[in-house]
Amino acid sequence: KFEPSMQDRARLRLALETDLRAALALQQVKLREALTLDQFAVHYQPIVDLATGQLTGFEALLRWQHPTRGTLNPDGFIPLAESIGLIGALGSWILRRARHDAARWPLPAHGTPLQLSVNVSPLQLREGPALIAGITEALQGAGLPAQRLEIEITENAMAEQGASVLADIHRLGVRLAIDDFGTGYSSLSRLAQFSFDRIKIDRSFVQVVGGTAGSARPVAPSNAAWMIRPIAALGTGLGISTVAEGVETAAQASLVWEAGVTEMQGYLVSTPVPADAVPALIARLDQASPYWGVRR
Ligand code: C2E
Ligand code: MG
Ligand code: MG
Ligand code: MG
Repeated sequence: KFEPSMQDRARLRLALETDLRAALALQQVKLREALTLDQFAVHYQPIVDLATGQLTGFEALLRWQHPTRGTLNPDGFIPLAESIGLIGALGSWILRRARHDAARWPLPAHGTPLQLSVNVSPLQLREGPALIAGITEALQGAGLPAQRLEIEITENAMAEQGASVLADIHRLGVRLAIDDFGTGYSSLSRLAQFSFDRIKIDRSFVQVVGGTAGSARPVAPSNAAWMIRPIAALGTGLGISTVAEGVETAAQASLVWEAGVTEMQGYLVSTPVPADAVPALIARLDQASPYWGVRR
């Protein structure tokens, strides 16, 4: 049976694809050089340390300021950009744009330079040499040493990938994070073949307490805490940090803190903000109560 909603979705996809081609394909030259694109922006969401409450860095999140549909989130158009062969150029632009912004971030009061995390799609990973070239290019110029840049790769993309491109990224001195950990289909033996610097625990494990809706893959509340615990322990054992994604309430922050997670990200601290709002956000977080309402 052909559902109307399916037809609507197909129509929307086609319309967006046309718009995306127009917004990007016509700007191929600009894409390869420009720092500014008419319809695209990179927003930044803070990540804070749970033990100290201090800001450790920001994740770059792409936004499409569509001329008639308003601001669109990447889940709705990254797959389209991949399917029309534009993700490589767009990905390089994001890296350049984010590096430019991060190089200008003020130092927080605690004095440790902030990290920049950038998402990379499975297709970008598969086009390994182009990705390495894009990262290398983005690192040129002053202001952002390689150790301050982190590339986020979803668990699935990492499992599908040969270790070589990940080793190439590491060789540049750039850090690697596994994104959306716990939702993929990779095995621990597969993950053991890679080295990475951070584990980001998917928000479906976090958003089981505190009454939030909208989790894509609900996990039973009683199970969630038991699943976060061994992931946090894995991070501790490997000597790397773990980030709880999608923390919206103090109850959720308490849950992940008690489970041994080291950092958090989510609306409790801040939604993603435009680049020009970052300095004020850094100043606000300098002043913030260090505990975020976490029970301890
Ligand atoms: P992600 O990397 O797992 O990013 C986290 C997503 O969770 C973001 O959605 C963020 O806005 C959202 N989020 C943060 N805190 C909360 C919270 O407290 N509650 C809820 N409900 N959501 C929260 P966004 O920005 O829509 O991005 C979706 C996905 O698109 C990202 O998931 C990432 O996989 C991908 N993406 C984003 N930017 C880029 C990019 O520049 N390049 C590529 N290749 N992919 C990107
Ligand atoms: Mg991410
Ligand atoms: Mg994630
Ligand atoms: Mg995600």
